[in-house]
Amino acid sequence: MKAHATEEQVCAVCEKIEALGFRPHPIPGAQRTAIGITGNQGAFEPGGLEEMPGVGEVIQVSKPYKLVSRDAKPDNTVIRFPGTNITVGGKDLAVMAGPCAIESREQALTTAEAVHRAGAQFFRGGAYKPRTSPYSFQGLGEDGLKIMAEVRDRFGMRIVTEAVDNESLDLVEQYADVIQIGARNMQNFSLLKRAGRSKKPVLLKRGMSATVEEFLMAAEYVMSEGNYNVILCERGVRTFADHTRNTLDLSVVPAVQRLSHLPIVVDPSHGTGKRNKVTPLSRAAIAVGADGLMVEVHHQPDRALSDGMQSLYPEQFDELMTQVRQIASVVGRTVPAIGSHVPAAKGSVAHVASPAAR
Ligand code: PEP
Ligand code: MN
Repeated sequence: MKAHATEEQVCAVCEKIEALGFRPHPIPGAQRTAIGITGNQGAFEPGGLEEMPGVGEVIQVSKPYKLVSRDAKPDNTVIRFPGTNITVGGKDLAVMAGPCAIESREQALTTAEAVHRAGAQFFRGGAYKPRTSPYSFQGLGEDGLKIMAEVRDRFGMRIVTEAVDNESLDLVEQYADVIQIGARNMQNFSLLKRAGRSKKPVLLKRGMSATVEEFLMAAEYVMSEGNYNVILCERGVRTFADHTRNTLDLSVVPAVQRLSHLPIVVDPSHGTGKRNKVTPLSRAAIAVGADGLMVEVHHQPDRALSDGMQSLYPEQFDELMTQVRQIASVVGRTVPAIGSHVPAAKGSVAHVASPAAR
């Protein structure tokens, strides 16, 4: 649509697309609204759309991913969180931090306090964990989600947590601000479609052997169902390297940014699997142009029930944020001031045990 197209004009075009037997996807951007059209088999006949008031141009997207493609929507997607000034994909970097898994209220609140103080706008943590072994800790389930909701109320951070299947997604979407789809589920197409029917933004992790095209097609599954708020996340891929758990593929960031308008963040924790590599790769991720970071932090990593080896101590996360702020300023990005996302004070957290010494 043209930059100043009215809402009525957008609606009229959507109705026309429906009347032609296709599905319209109005995706607002900073400058103008793009309306994706899906459901056509083969070439699309514009059927008079071009002449409608407010229409800028009709473009055929040749890529297999349509709505995800920058051809369909040239402006970057900026995801907003009602009631806050937090964004993902804008000038501000989005920092998501917290433990791999929610293990207890005390663990979550102690870690949350630390990452909030260091400047994270999002608190991450799994209530449902996709574990390699069925005998490993599987997460606290809904009790974990309740603890996360308490973290949001107390600190104002938005909550990111994983849904491992359609059943857990029903619960996760009630509590979370962002629904995480894990690497192992990147091609779980029924889960992607279910996430696409949710109103909550989706953080989609790259599968451990997924090509860029497969990654973007997974995002297309979510968008094709009407959820246009997708955050991509690079978390490392499998290679022959044995000095790290995975190989963090930072080159995917500019590759994705060329092909898609969706924001992309980097997870250097799963991407390296080793605590000492998380801060250097965080710096590199910001330097390469990522829209943010997802970092595992635990107040007692040696006691973590999952991913302790790659979890930062709170003081290390604090230092990471200091370094990230410096790199951000070089690449023209900003990290919001600490506490700028805090809602009205909700009382002290004095009863929460302070983080154990390293
Ligand atoms: C996680 O974020 O803790 C996780 C399980 O990530 P991934 O799906 O990338 O392995
Ligand atoms: Mn983890």
